[in-house]
Amino acid sequence: MQGLLHDWRRTNYANQCTAEIAGSDVTVMGWVHEIRDFGGIMFVIIRDVTGKVQITAPSKKVDAEILEQLREFRKESVVAIKGMAQEAPKAPNGVEILPKEIKVLNLANQPLPMDPTEKVKAGIDTRLDSRFLDIRKENVSAIFKIKGQMFHSIRDFFYDNGFHEINTPKLVASATEGGTELFPIIYFEKEAFLGQSPQLYKQMMMASGMDKVFEIGQIFRAEEHDTLRHLNEAVSIDAEASFMDDVDVMNILNDMLVNVITDVNNNCAEELDILGHEIEVPDKRFPVVTYDEAVEIVNAKDVEMDWGEDLSREAEKALGDQMGGFYFLTEWPTEIKPFYVMPKEGDEKYSHAFDLMYNNLELSSGATRVHQHDLLLKQIEERGLNPDGFGSYLKAFEYGMPPHAGWGVGADRLTMVLTGAENIRECVLFPRDRHRLTP
Ligand code: ATP
Ligand code: MG
Repeated sequence: MQGLLHDWRRTNYANQCTAEIAGSDVTVMGWVHEIRDFGGIMFVIIRDVTGKVQITAPSKKVDAEILEQLREFRKESVVAIKGMAQEAPKAPNGVEILPKEIKVLNLANQPLPMDPTEKVKAGIDTRLDSRFLDIRKENVSAIFKIKGQMFHSIRDFFYDNGFHEINTPKLVASATEGGTELFPIIYFEKEAFLGQSPQLYKQMMMASGMDKVFEIGQIFRAEEHDTLRHLNEAVSIDAEASFMDDVDVMNILNDMLVNVITDVNNNCAEELDILGHEIEVPDKRFPVVTYDEAVEIVNAKDVEMDWGEDLSREAEKALGDQMGGFYFLTEWPTEIKPFYVMPKEGDEKYSHAFDLMYNNLELSSGATRVHQHDLLLKQIEERGLNPDGFGSYLKAFEYGMPPHAGWGVGADRLTMVLTGAENIRECVLFPRDRHRLTP
């Protein structure tokens, strides 16, 4: 059968084919990036996850059979080549491979639905329709390498700081907090929904005695957004900590982001370079602006905003222009925050809720939570929600619930900040939006 590896194994990735290995035999494997046939000499560029390597086949030095095989190559096919490395100052990494044996592992049909070498530029929809080809581009895979580093770094940070990783159900019986639209699903003979947030579960975990927990998981929002920063399925990084308040968890969030940005700078320099993006490691605590101050700033920029309103897109932009970079927005009106947010003692109009912003993009919402059963019940009722739907949640507040606080960060939005992407779709492998359910 054709196309099998048999005993062939890659000896060198493209980035391991450097002048130092000149004279040795290597086996490289990857995708046919480019074919240049000058008759007397042929050049084929092979691309793998690490970069590109040049195969050089002068008719005087390689067998006619090899040249014939190379001429049958088609762009983006998967091939394996055994050959001898030799110095070539003009080739990528200063080395080229003289082919001795070739295997075509998988031939790509032509024409391709899109060109991963970008000689022909494609729009976002064409790209997403053939996402596997799109990700072959180094400026696209760079985003996902950075996103991977981000999760790695976040997990390291949580584990180093005594947080336990948890997983909570995404099939849920009722709404988390009201307000947000839910996707209904059929759960045997019952109606159920896709979870919009692990909020209620991570709070219930505070009554479990595990003290500090985090979860990285999918959230589903059925709103008909059509923006560059909303998707209907997103990944949320959620943290909740007992015996802490809003300021404590804001500091944790600040530290975590400094850690992530440091790691991305240290470990993804090549990817940042490919993207032409720089992100400075913040050296001070993120500045804080209160909601009242934000209303003033926004109005001073001729964008209308009444006290007690959520920030409109224009208000976010006006505030972002003034503040720049990362900043916390604190002391939100209680009435526009969810029922589980703790009001200020003696000044209940205001709450212990905060958002973390980057320029005009909301990255995170968090708060000190209500841990007293009766106050929680009162706030659920005040928002017109039916406490019956919250039975198992409320139960956790009746038998020893510590004071606690937490936040959720949108992982895909944070990736936008780390990579400089302007459309959240760029930061999700297979995005789900109002119009897209495949691939
Ligand atoms: P926004 O006001 O920007 O719509 P939100 O206040 O509705 O966001 P939260 O419910 O506070 O969002 O969710 C916490 C975080 O999860 C947000 O700060 C954001 O980073 C992320 N997030 C929320 N909804 C979405 C979405 N539809 N697509 C991508 N990320 C989201
Ligand atoms: Mg929010």
